Amino acid sequence: MKKELTKINDKIYYFAISIVILAMLMGLLWDDSYLGNMNTGFLLHAGLIFILSLSLVLYPMFDNRATRIVMITGAAAYFYTLFYLYPETWSTFIYICLIPVIAILFFDSKLFYYAIFLNSTAVSSAFVYISLTKQEKLYPFFYEDWIGHFINFLGVQILLCILYYLTYVRMQKQQAYYKEVQESERIKTAGQLAAAFAHEIRNPLTVVKGFLQLYEQDSAYDHHAKKHFSLMINELDMAEEVISQFLAVSKPNKEAVVEEVHLKENLQSVASLLASYGLMNDNKIELYVEEGCRIAANSMEFKQLCINIIKNAIEASTEGCSVIVNAKREKDKVEIQIIDRGNGMSEIEMQSLGTPFYSLKSKGTGLGLMICYNIVSKYNGKITFQSLEGEGTTVTIQFPEY
Ligand code: ADP
Ligand code: MG
Repeated sequence: MKKELTKINDKIYYFAISIVILAMLMGLLWDDSYLGNMNTGFLLHAGLIFILSLSLVLYPMFDNRATRIVMITGAAAYFYTLFYLYPETWSTFIYICLIPVIAILFFDSKLFYYAIFLNSTAVSSAFVYISLTKQEKLYPFFYEDWIGHFINFLGVQILLCILYYLTYVRMQKQQAYYKEVQESERIKTAGQLAAAFAHEIRNPLTVVKGFLQLYEQDSAYDHHAKKHFSLMINELDMAEEVISQFLAVSKPNKEAVVEEVHLKENLQSVASLLASYGLMNDNKIELYVEEGCRIAANSMEFKQLCINIIKNAIEASTEGCSVIVNAKREKDKVEIQIIDRGNGMSEIEMQSLGTPFYSLKSKGTGLGLMICYNIVSKYNGKITFQSLEGEGTTVTIQFPEY
């Protein structure tokens, strides 16, 4: 919720809570039997208003689950206090029925079920308390039809659950749709950019590189100058690498033949290719591939996908930790998991994965994952990332089985 609190939303939020606080204060000062008579009830009521108002004001600054639990519990305590303090005002029961609505605002399932549980327990206790202490005079409306009231309460809770569930499903669908649109937009933009620039840049680069190579061998230049030439050539090589990676995205290899790809063979060849790369930091690649896993893809592209993901895993891994590659059949799908115990990523970092040039590495191109997304979608697969900062990352790739 905090993320969406832009400047305008801030204003609306503070305006809304001012009205809520004002309404609570009016409720406190309305009953003149308590006014000026500082008994426990009045103090309790005033104290709860103070706590609730404070948590509402501070909420945008400390938005986490703990403060949300405090707010829900505080609000529940407030409404139940009203219920017990002003038994003649039966409409407070309506507020009690609606307590879980506060949790709906946060869109957090655990909080919502906590609110439902808290409310049901508190209402059941209230019913038992009122009937045991025989307070029919205080709660006449209750005595007249307590079963009816209880059924109404249950009805409202069930209604709120349905409402929450439907809104939750809708929100999730919208989020998934938004993510998909973002992804395809990302790929489209990258493709258009690449098509426009890659060729134009590649030609002059080749010419410059050719001359530099000539000068590098020319005895007219001293050792110092030649060192600079070779540095320049290295940088040009890097630029060429970026361009060819970009080209691979913009023009997905249409001639790539779709064939039967045996995961075991292909993953073994990728692992042996990357074995020496991993050994630089003492990272081994452990392969666990179920027999007979096959998918329909181009084996070169499949290898390119695995190389990019496993290379990232090695680069993220802490010294001495292995990268684990699992592959198994799951119903009519084949699932590959690449697990590393490296530095992991934050939620925000994960949202940028696949964006062209997004890289946190000093020598990264930020194109590897974009290519992976492309290859995976080309063969009707799915790629997901799970990561915890400081603990590691698991990349799961699924393809339909051959
Ligand atoms: P590059 O490897 O050139 O930086 P990629 O597209 O392959 O580009 O990856 C983009 C970024 O995603 C990386 O710079 C890194 O920050 C992050 N990343 C990818 N895989 C992992 C991983 N296994 N663990 C941690 N971060 C990762
Ligand atoms: Mg990479």
